[in-house]
Amino acid sequence: MPLRFDNQFADKFPELSHAQSIQPDGKGRLRWVNDTLWKALSGGDSVPGALVDWVSGNKDWPGTKPVAQKYAGHQFGHFNPYLGDGRGLLVGQVQAPDALYDLHVKGAGPTPYSRGGDGRAVLRSSIRELLASEAFYALGIPTTRALALVSTEGQIQRETVEPGAMLVRVARTHIRFGHFEHCLYRNLEDSAKRLWQHSIESIWPGAADKSVSEQFRHVVKATAEMIAKWQAYGFVHGVMNTDNMSLAGETFDYGPYAFFDDYKPGHIFNHTDHAGRYGFMQQPGVGLWNLKRLAHALGGFADDQSVNNVLEGYEPVLRETFLNVMKQRLGLTDVSNNDTCWSLISGWLMLLETYQLDYNLSYRALGAVLEGNWQSLSGNLGEIAQRIKENGQSWLNDYTEAVANKPDTNTMKQVNPLVILRTHHAQYVIEQAEQGSDEALNEYINALMTPFEEKHKNTRWVVPPESGQPPAELSCSS
Ligand code: AMP
Ligand code: MG
Ligand code: MG
Repeated sequence: MPLRFDNQFADKFPELSHAQSIQPDGKGRLRWVNDTLWKALSGGDSVPGALVDWVSGNKDWPGTKPVAQKYAGHQFGHFNPYLGDGRGLLVGQVQAPDALYDLHVKGAGPTPYSRGGDGRAVLRSSIRELLASEAFYALGIPTTRALALVSTEGQIQRETVEPGAMLVRVARTHIRFGHFEHCLYRNLEDSAKRLWQHSIESIWPGAADKSVSEQFRHVVKATAEMIAKWQAYGFVHGVMNTDNMSLAGETFDYGPYAFFDDYKPGHIFNHTDHAGRYGFMQQPGVGLWNLKRLAHALGGFADDQSVNNVLEGYEPVLRETFLNVMKQRLGLTDVSNNDTCWSLISGWLMLLETYQLDYNLSYRALGAVLEGNWQSLSGNLGEIAQRIKENGQSWLNDYTEAVANKPDTNTMKQVNPLVILRTHHAQYVIEQAEQGSDEALNEYINALMTPFEEKHKNTRWVVPPESGQPPAELSCSS
């Protein structure tokens, strides 16, 4: 079956969007496609050859009804009413066997919301988004997905001139907190109400006939769970503006993001974020701040007090999710005393920070230390295990006592990636792709999609950056 389009947003909310087709930037070249995802969306079909022309805008995509969505948002704490899809389009919505999904093409040309921007996306940032989406999916962190990457003939001016691309993103929704902020600012109370009900029906159909505050509880929970998982895997989003917060609680709009190499919780990766508003330790608090902006925007049609009460559920969900994921990552699933677990978690993080250990590899190394076979590890894993043994003895003693000598190392292997998305590897595959070769890109994606498998252990993709290198700084320019 080909994709079955049901373009509900375009049909129901013309006042919140602008009809517009993809504007080609020369011929397209298909650089990567997600066959598995296409099959899931279509109910078993394979990718049609015409896809590259559809995505690049050189042929009309049958069944679609592309629009630029209008939204507002708080950027770095300041309200900006003039946002919207400035370089992406909601091309259409697909009724898949399990649910309705949005297809969005990023880099599709200028729209009325471009604010002087060129409406384009560079190959570099498109690859970064593609890698992050699929890496997140494999780690079990809620995320938008990547369906296809097409490079164009466009030459895009950023800090330098760069090749252009279009990325097809798949999401449960592209409705952002900022959609409701726009409705509030423009006094579109009826649209806000209908958009809210529409969103709940499509994301949490079971809550369709509940009160707004009960429905809001789902958004709060999904957001808290998402951010808890970022914290547990050492991920920094970098631009947590309310226009980058998906109502469905999917990690969204990957810009100057990073996973930790060495654990440096205070480091700010986004070099345009001078105040450090979106640093790692700030993320849980910013998530709540953003939810408050959404709650305020819902105020027009919901009971203020009960919506605000729901916000009180945020921190407990975040803490509980973080605790559960960390218990799995540390092999503590059988330890029922949560105070003991919290104390082991903070001791562990202190160890990683003090000795500047590689954040994600340390959990793999710990697994081997606990199984007693760490001496067979080579390279970085071996070194990290050695340092855990040398410097973490008192922590290991407490740990052994807590787990009564029975760490859950089986679970550890299923949740602790050997391959994590690293800026220097992303940079390498980008450089190769910019020169026309997609071999490294494909290899890295395949590794990120199977991050727990031992088979990657002797590949380049597990190697952290050389020690002593400062963490990469990333810019918003994309
Ligand atoms: P972002 O930082 O990617 O979340 O983008 C913030 C806002 O700027 C959104 O409204 C984007 O659509 C818009 N935007 C980002 N890059 C461009 C571009 N190259 N041309 C036009 N609009 C853009
Ligand atoms: Mg954005
Ligand atoms: Mg972006």
